[in-house]
Amino acid sequence: EEREPVEDVRPKTPVKPMTATEVKVNVSIPEAAERAAATGADGVGLLRIEHMVLSLGMTPEKYIKEHGERAYVDEIVEGVRTVAEEFYPRPVRVRTLDAPTDEFRQLPGGEDEPNEHNPMLGYRGIRRSLDKPDVFKHELRAFRRLYEMGYDNVEMMFPLINDAEEVYQVKNLMRETGINPDKHDWGVMVETPASALGIRSLAEAGIDFASFGTNDLTQYTLAVDRNNENVADRFDELHPAVLELIGSTIETCRELGVKTSICGQAGSKSKMVQFLVDEGVTSISANIDAVRDVQHEVKRVEQKLILDSVR
Ligand code: PEP
Ligand code: MG
Repeated sequence: EEREPVEDVRPKTPVKPMTATEVKVNVSIPEAAERAAATGADGVGLLRIEHMVLSLGMTPEKYIKEHGERAYVDEIVEGVRTVAEEFYPRPVRVRTLDAPTDEFRQLPGGEDEPNEHNPMLGYRGIRRSLDKPDVFKHELRAFRRLYEMGYDNVEMMFPLINDAEEVYQVKNLMRETGINPDKHDWGVMVETPASALGIRSLAEAGIDFASFGTNDLTQYTLAVDRNNENVADRFDELHPAVLELIGSTIETCRELGVKTSICGQAGSKSKMVQFLVDEGVTSISANIDAVRDVQHEVKRVEQKLILDSVR
């Protein structure tokens, strides 16, 4: 007599270790959402809007002129929706536009961009957004539309923030766009020494979270160009000065009830993971291929902390 075939009851998604620290994933392009969600990550720690914008093949200003404001908002809504849907109800942190002018200059419409000696120190991130609120507000309109569609798992994140004044300006623009800042989770990236040193005033401005952009935080703390191969060996996210800024920011945020996370490349490195879990970070976001290792590293460090505390 033939045996009935046994049904394969193993879960399709590998069982992830339970950890107190959340482990999230960075999603580079909406097309990677399904693969990212399959890692079992606790959410998306970084989804950059600029990939959606740069793939339009021209500067935002030119695209809006040629195709209209509505089409521009639609593109952002569609890109974010793909990821927010895949992860729902897990949170998805969406970072507003942060491309340096040298990238825009290569595109049609780029002739209107400023020609900067140091684009990384120049007209990018929240600086550009606050200088061009009419363009920036389309990103906020996309968020509003997503909230109206029910994607309450979308969180807004603002890049290259230096001080609370910028945060208050962002909040005003949210309100002008019909977004109530008190009703949604939003926060800032900590990518400059100024934002780390001023974290207390940023917290007072109402942020829900601070996320370490260690690619930039390292670049600006050490004065090492992240794209310059001549000094690549000096680009060290674990430099004591960088860790001091991160550690003190986490401490202040814990005191004030603000969540902390990392979304720079260093979040995929075990030494940084150890440091962050020790310091009490809320979440770590890693690259898709690193999520599993980070989950296990977090588990190991958390268990060690528990054992140390009862010893
Ligand atoms: C960072 O600076 O660490 C970061 C995540 O942002 P980006 O790499 O896009 O500058
Ligand atoms: Mg950055």
